[in-house]
Amino acid sequence: IFNFSAGPATLPLPVLEQVQAELLDWHGSGMGVMEMSHRDKEFTSIAQACERDLREVLGVPANYKVLFLQGGATAQFSVVPQNLLRGKTSADYIVTGDWGKKAFKEMGRYGRANLAATSEAEKFTTIPDRASWKLDPDAAFVHITSNETIHGVEFPDAPEVCGVPLVSDMSSSFASRPIDVGQYGLIYAGAQKNVGPSGITIVIVRDDLIGQVLPGTFAIHDYKVVAENDSMLNTPPTFAWYVCGLVFQWMKNEGGLAAIGERNARKAALLYDYLDAQDFYRNPVAKPYRSKMNVPFVLANAELDAEFLKGSKAAGLIGLKGHRSVGGMRASIYNAMPEAGVAALVDYMKEFVRTKG
Ligand code: PLP
Repeated sequence: IFNFSAGPATLPLPVLEQVQAELLDWHGSGMGVMEMSHRDKEFTSIAQACERDLREVLGVPANYKVLFLQGGATAQFSVVPQNLLRGKTSADYIVTGDWGKKAFKEMGRYGRANLAATSEAEKFTTIPDRASWKLDPDAAFVHITSNETIHGVEFPDAPEVCGVPLVSDMSSSFASRPIDVGQYGLIYAGAQKNVGPSGITIVIVRDDLIGQVLPGTFAIHDYKVVAENDSMLNTPPTFAWYVCGLVFQWMKNEGGLAAIGERNARKAALLYDYLDAQDFYRNPVAKPYRSKMNVPFVLANAELDAEFLKGSKAAGLIGLKGHRSVGGMRASIYNAMPEAGVAALVDYMKEFVRTKG
């Protein structure tokens, strides 16, 4: 089957096969990774290799910490302000979808959340023009959601924010194409879309931004304390961490983010070109901001939705139901979705039009 779910999402087949082969006996250790102590040298070597490969694949500069946390991106909606306010009282938020809106709301618990720009009036189908953003030069950071998973809206590049640290929720576009990590103060992402199973969250943060948490912040949420303990202040999600490590190795074998990014661009183009070439289906997002990871679309006749989904499932194309807040369909085409999967989806869509259109 081809799994178009928004997350937890499909993983690369070679990774799953390796997990299967090593499940009961990792590298002759006589035990599987799930059964290993996180303090043993076997697991420490797995954790270190994962970080090394992540740094290599993303090109993380030496003055950034890479942290492996729990609580999902949702916990980071709070943990980011707890760490990054650093004596300041406000932060700027660019809200381009429901996830950014949630992050914005959480910020309000810790200080003044400034809604510097939002596309809510356009039903989150675009990104407000950079010239219209009302940024505050005294803000502690500017928060964006690089890719809004529900609405299928993606920033093509890191926006310029006048020297204030840029924070990005990259949950659904992490490691999907090359980026310049140095343009960000902090990047966070739940792993369960492009890099592994759910249960582990990756934070990449510039050294000079950590170590000044708000009073009352738990030690487990203090980036500096976590970094000093190699993300093992408490028992980490060992199995998820291990699988992420295999995914980063797979990314290297695939030719790194340049090759992966090109493939993702081809996959997205195949689907959007078809969506734009007929009027039975429609994607509402402004073209420069269309997501290469999550492609929402609606049928002109919503009464056919249930039939479309039933038929797609029977054809081995699963997870296509759109998010409940926007309806219609959504095809999530993360790194592990092969080009053949997108081609199979387009073929199915054409056949559906031929019989029902
Ligand atoms: N941010 C984005 C962009 C997401 O897509 C999601 C989940 O889909 C989240 C945050 C929430 O992530 P988690 O479930 O890991 O807390």
